[in-house]
Amino acid sequence: MNGRTITVSLIGLVIYAVLGGFLVSAYRDGTVATVYVAVLTLYILTLVMIHRRSSYYICPDCDKMFEIGFFRDLLSPNDGVRGKRLKCPNCGKKGWFAEYSDK
Ligand SMILES: [Zn+2]
Repeated sequence: MNGRTITVSLIGLVIYAVLGGFLVSAYRDGTVATVYVAVLTLYILTLVMIHRRSSYYICPDCDKMFEIGFFRDLLSPNDGVRGKRLKCPNCGKKGWFAEYSDK
C-alpha cells in the first residue's frame, strides 16, 4: 500500500466517519448506529488486511526481510516517521522498523 493509497483510504475513512456520525445522530435509531459501526469496523479491518498484504519490514541489525500477521499489524503501534514497533523474528531485536511496500 503506497502513500497515495493510504492517504485516499484514510480520507475515505474520515468522510465516512463524519457523514455516518451525522446520520446516526439525525436518525437516533439503534439499527442505523449498528450498521454504521459494523461498516466502519469492516472498513478498518479491510484497510489493515490490504496494508498487511502489501507491507514488509527489514531488520536494521540482521537485514532479514519479514512480514507480519494481521493481528500484529492491527495492534502494534505505528507512527508515520519511525515506522512500526516490532520484534525481528530472526535476531529478536525490538524497536521501530521502517515499513516498505509494493514488494
Ligand atoms: Zn534482526
